[in-house]
Amino acid sequence: MTESFDEECDYLFKAVLIGDSAVGKSNLLSRFAKNEFCLESKPTIGVEFAYRNIRVGDKLIKAQIWDTAGQERAGSEPSQVRTTRGASALLVYDITRKSTFESLKKWLKEVREFGSRELVVVLVGNKSDLAQYREVNLEDGRSLAQLEDLSFMETSAKENLNVEEAFLQMITRIYQLSCHKSM
Ligand code: GDP
Ligand code: MG
Repeated sequence: MTESFDEECDYLFKAVLIGDSAVGKSNLLSRFAKNEFCLESKPTIGVEFAYRNIRVGDKLIKAQIWDTAGQERAGSEPSQVRTTRGASALLVYDITRKSTFESLKKWLKEVREFGSRELVVVLVGNKSDLAQYREVNLEDGRSLAQLEDLSFMETSAKENLNVEEAFLQMITRIYQLSCHKSM
C-alpha cells in the first residue's frame, strides 16, 4: 500500500530536525505532520519520523522529516546528523533560551561536516508566542541567518505560527536545488 502510494509522488525529500533539547522540535513536527501540539515535554528517544505530501507547482513531493533527540552534541558520535546525509535540516532554537541560540554554531558545524554539500538549512527561532520571556532578538536570528546563508523565521508550534511556512520554505528550496542539478 505504501509502495503504490510512493509511486504517485514525483519526489521524496528527507529532512531532519536538529537543535538543543526542549526547543520544540517534536512539537514543530507534530504540528506540521498532524496539526497537534503537546504541552508536556516528552523526551524523544532515538529518532522518529513523519511524512507529509506537499504540492509544489504540478509536482507532488513526499517529505520525510526525521525528529531527533537533542542530547547528542558535537564531538560525540553524530548519529542523528548521519541521517542528514544528502538531506536537509531545520535547525531550531528557543527564543526564550539564549543558550540554545549559542549552540547553533556547533550544530551548523556538525551538519556541514556530515551532511551533503548542498544541504538546505532553515533556521527556526521557536516559541515566538512567549515574547515576554524573549532572550534572543528577532534581529539576532536574522543576522546569523544572513551570515550563514540560511533561510530564517520565528515560529510558534503552540500557536501554529509560521510552522507550515518554515517547512514549506525548506522543501521548496530542496526542490529548487534538485531541479537545478538535473538541468
Ligand atoms: P524537543 O526536545 O526539541 O523535541 O522539544 P519538544 O517539542 O518536546 O518541546 C519542549 C517543550 O516546549 C514542551 O513542553 C512543549 O510543550 C514546549 N513548546 C514547544 N514548542 C513551543 C512553542 O512554540 N511555544 C511554547 N510556549 N511552548 C512550546
Ligand atoms: Mg523531541
